[in-house]
Amino acid sequence: MMNRVYLIGAGPGDRELITVKGARIIQLADVIVYDHLANSALLEYASEDCKLIYVGKETGHHVMKQEEINSLLVELGSNYQCVVRLKGGDPYVFGRGGEEGEFLRSADIEFEVVPGITSAIGGLAYAGIPITQRNIATSFHVITGHTSNQSKPIQYEHLAKLNGTLVFLMGVRNLSSIVANLLSNGKTSNTPVAIIYKASTPDQKVYIGELSNIVKIAKKEKVKPPSLIVVGEVVNYREVLSFYENKPLFGKHILVTRSRDKQSKMSDELLALGAKVTQLPTIKIKTINDDLLENEINEINKYTGIVFTSGMAVTIFFEKMKKLKLDARYLGSQKLIVIGTETNKVLEMYGLYADYIPEEFSKEGVAKLLKTIDIQNAYYMIPRSEKGDKQWIKALEEEFRMHEIHCYDTQFIDEFGVDKIDINDGLDKSSIDSLELGSIDYITFTSSSTVHGYMNQLVGSNGIKLRECIQRAKVVAIGPTTRKTLEEYNITVDLQPVEYTIKNMIQIIVNDNKNM
Ligand code: SAH
Repeated sequence: MMNRVYLIGAGPGDRELITVKGARIIQLADVIVYDHLANSALLEYASEDCKLIYVGKETGHHVMKQEEINSLLVELGSNYQCVVRLKGGDPYVFGRGGEEGEFLRSADIEFEVVPGITSAIGGLAYAGIPITQRNIATSFHVITGHTSNQSKPIQYEHLAKLNGTLVFLMGVRNLSSIVANLLSNGKTSNTPVAIIYKASTPDQKVYIGELSNIVKIAKKEKVKPPSLIVVGEVVNYREVLSFYENKPLFGKHILVTRSRDKQSKMSDELLALGAKVTQLPTIKIKTINDDLLENEINEINKYTGIVFTSGMAVTIFFEKMKKLKLDARYLGSQKLIVIGTETNKVLEMYGLYADYIPEEFSKEGVAKLLKTIDIQNAYYMIPRSEKGDKQWIKALEEEFRMHEIHCYDTQFIDEFGVDKIDINDGLDKSSIDSLELGSIDYITFTSSSTVHGYMNQLVGSNGIKLRECIQRAKVVAIGPTTRKTLEEYNITVDLQPVEYTIKNMIQIIVNDNKNM
């Protein structure tokens, strides 16, 4: 089979608004290139060993340049049989899909397009706005609101005269100029306007006004992208036709703690009720190179000291000592150099105190410290993660005698059980750091092991966020056993259904929310 790149439309946001064909090809993909507008929950369809490459963040943040994405697609298209380029909405509606197609064609890479529901239509529907309506709007027009470097200006003189619905994409930053142009070209100032933020997602917000006051409203409400601007009488139908925001859990944010396989059903049901669902990811730690570490511990005397860069490295090192039936005395005069206060805490749990903790954890900081250790021909062991920063260790190795031992590997299993590869992956990028935990209303626990899983993550800087979260949010336990486990951790359970089923658990949340 020929290699092929598929430009797939992911739909406007709701993860179920993808085509059957799009979902099927995602399942077959060897690699998926996606950006922030595509609902990353769709990656759930991907196979275990599918490579995931994230190429873009929201406006203003780091974005992979379009030229770089084009080249990446060509490179992947040359190396993999099935490459998916997943794009928000429809790939050819202001998505630069056309350029990607052109580029692939010129590089002689097979490609195919799987259209998607554009936010310009589907997004309106979720806000209760029909894009056309008999006798009200007989046409619709989708316009880019972002014209700074376009050679073709928007023809407001024509647009303002149309009876149809006008939908502006990428227009939030230019709202005042869009409105001014429509007014100066003859649109009446009482024409209804809606701004729809993050349509078809649980964060959806709709702001309603008229051409006369929408700029003021948007300013007051601090409206942000991604938003759709809708101009026309159809906006008035929202009062009758809105459905998404009426869902019983719309606007509620629920943290679902995982037990990986069972949870998605619960999340699906919560999503269907309009809730925003965050699943707590877990980190899988795999020890590696067991024999090597064992060997080096046996020959500890050739070392001057041990540099610990993470709590996990400390744990693995001392668990290995235990297995070898060696206790702390065995380390004798080894210098213990510890990087990071969290690492130090773990070391102290093993009853040992660091000889040195560098003030700065950068390579310069560590180098500066090592220089102060005045031992001839010093030689240091560094047990650490395989994913540790390569530059960091390389720089140190140039100046000092070091032996890096990769003793573990961390795999972040995201909410869908797939290991993410972030093309901009940095040092120790923490998944929990990026979770929005500040707005959680409910946390659900469906077993004692999900409780232990949560509590195990209450260490380090991530732990602080989780700790605050569980103190603030309402805690929902599925039954008495889970409740007991929570209480053993001094966590008060707010809600527990009489019958121990997920269905009842969800019902109790719905009822609680009704009574608020
Ligand atoms: N190809 C996409 C559009 C990409 S341009 C599509 O067919 O929908 C990016 C713009 O699309 C955003 O600035 C915003 O105006 C709009 N957009 C995309 N998804 C949106 C959503 N869920 N809610 C509101 N606007 C959205």
